[in-house]
Amino acid sequence: MNLDELYQTVILDHAQRPRNFGDLPQATAVAEGVNPSCGDEVTVSVKLSADGQVIDDIKFKGAGCAISQASASLMTLKLKGKSRDEALKFEHVFHEMMTAATLPAYPQGFGDLQILEGVRKFPQRVKCATLVWNALKQALTGNV
Ligand code: ZN
Repeated sequence: MNLDELYQTVILDHAQRPRNFGDLPQATAVAEGVNPSCGDEVTVSVKLSADGQVIDDIKFKGAGCAISQASASLMTLKLKGKSRDEALKFEHVFHEMMTAATLPAYPQGFGDLQILEGVRKFPQRVKCATLVWNALKQALTGNV
């Protein structure tokens, strides 16, 4: 697999036209992440439901490489409307997809997040893909 294959059409599309990009004035939690090795920066804003259990809305802002932007765009699309628990489960599986010795079992609904699976073959780019998920976890739990 070479870099041309890695930068698939979908990844480039999300990087060039990121979805859910911008501020979320009604956000209930905000977290930032920086990946110094690549220069990626991301801010995730989440609006949780009144009971704190559902992601009513989610947006991100930032700048960086195609992988970091596409990962953030795909994540926000996937998690909008999901429960907090499901979002944290996806965060765990995404990290396994990037770093575990063997690929995880993908939960139902994980879907096109698997587009980024090939990034695991490029260890120096893994932090680009996980940056936004780290920020999400921080926003949802206060921990990294
Ligand atoms: Zn990067």
